[in-house]
Amino acid sequence: MSTFNLENIVRKNIWSLKAYSSARSEFQLYGKTDGAELTLLDANENPNDPAILDMDLQIRNLNRYPDPLQSDIKEILSEQKGIATDQIFVGNGSDEAIDLLYRIFCEPGKDSVITCPPTYGMYEVSAAINDVAVVEFPLTSDFSLDVHGILKSDAFAKAKLLWICSPNNPTGNALLKADLQHDWQAENYTKGGMMDMPYAPEFEQELKENKENLDRLIGGFNGIVVVDEAYQDFTENQSFIRRLDDYPNLVVLQTMSKAHGMAGARTGFAFASPEIIALFNKTKPPYNVNELSQKAVLKALQLTDQTDQQISEIKSNREMLSTLLEDLEYVEEVYPSEANFILAKVKDASAVYNYLKDQGIIIRNRSSQIPNTLRFTVGTTQECEVLMKTLKEY
Ligand SMILES: *Cc1c(COP(=O)(O)O)cnc(C)c1O
Repeated sequence: MSTFNLENIVRKNIWSLKAYSSARSEFQLYGKTDGAELTLLDANENPNDPAILDMDLQIRNLNRYPDPLQSDIKEILSEQKGIATDQIFVGNGSDEAIDLLYRIFCEPGKDSVITCPPTYGMYEVSAAINDVAVVEFPLTSDFSLDVHGILKSDAFAKAKLLWICSPNNPTGNALLKADLQHDWQAENYTKGGMMDMPYAPEFEQELKENKENLDRLIGGFNGIVVVDEAYQDFTENQSFIRRLDDYPNLVVLQTMSKAHGMAGARTGFAFASPEIIALFNKTKPPYNVNELSQKAVLKALQLTDQTDQQISEIKSNREMLSTLLEDLEYVEEVYPSEANFILAKVKDASAVYNYLKDQGIIIRNRSSQIPNTLRFTVGTTQECEVLMKTLKEY
């Protein structure tokens, strides 16, 4: 008789693992329907299909392994982001980069990392898979970083990774600004002012605080600071890519899944020093991004006008939706967003959520993270109109 016992041979952290619950796994949507009859405002995707034709992709040679270092993609990213190709890692979604950061930097069963919840769930799930401890420093009541608490903690002295999602999912606000001085100049310039416009006194204070925060949180940290910029395309703030030269321990994550409308292609990026990128390249599976995705992403990156136009439509829909939400009697608070979703506090989140679901509109209930909150992905103008009409009838 076999004495085999599965539980006995599985790593304890995997046996007790709580799986990541993706937006749509709750509906068992996959395999049964393509969701065509539902309005999907739950996963922060760009609702527009990039409309890349099969023939555009020129896919040949699927019998051959794909380029292990994705040179064509890095070439175009290098131009668009103003960064060297050896400072770019291309992954099977940014989720692969998240997992690799644990595998590269953290000893299982020994090391720890810092997260600032409520935030993206994968930092914690990946930690659990890699048997790495998580020390949480919750955001303050206005959803800002508890900088003081983090800096004075033991955890800050020891942790290997510090996760900062900015703009943050699900709160929508920026947690740190990469270069406020540049943001100020750019904003004044667009309004017709001069580049060297003097600062407003309250801005001067904000500028000083942000600089101190960066120097202490990133400059003063002995581990890696990861700034996850999945929603960077929806904010006016500068990307942390421009700070890589200042902080050798900085890693910036971006993705094709959100603004670029390519969630299905599973492709994300890490930007860092050439030394850190070399570690990613050593650790990743050799052919981590398949040929079909590489071709599609290359094409999508070239559609800059189309993407910019979609982003500006999403941003103006965001303002429209946020105004409407503020007017609804049962909505208690609408949080300002620099992303393609809006978080709102309502009187009874489950009731509103179930009502919308019954009407075929799927949003995300975030009440487990922040009581009575709902997260609405900003969809097409038409989707927003359907949502607004339905919300008014509640
Ligand atoms: C959606 C999202 C991602 C994207 O992950 P991919 O694996 O690239 O699809 C990463 N970080 C955050 C915070 C997100 O919300």
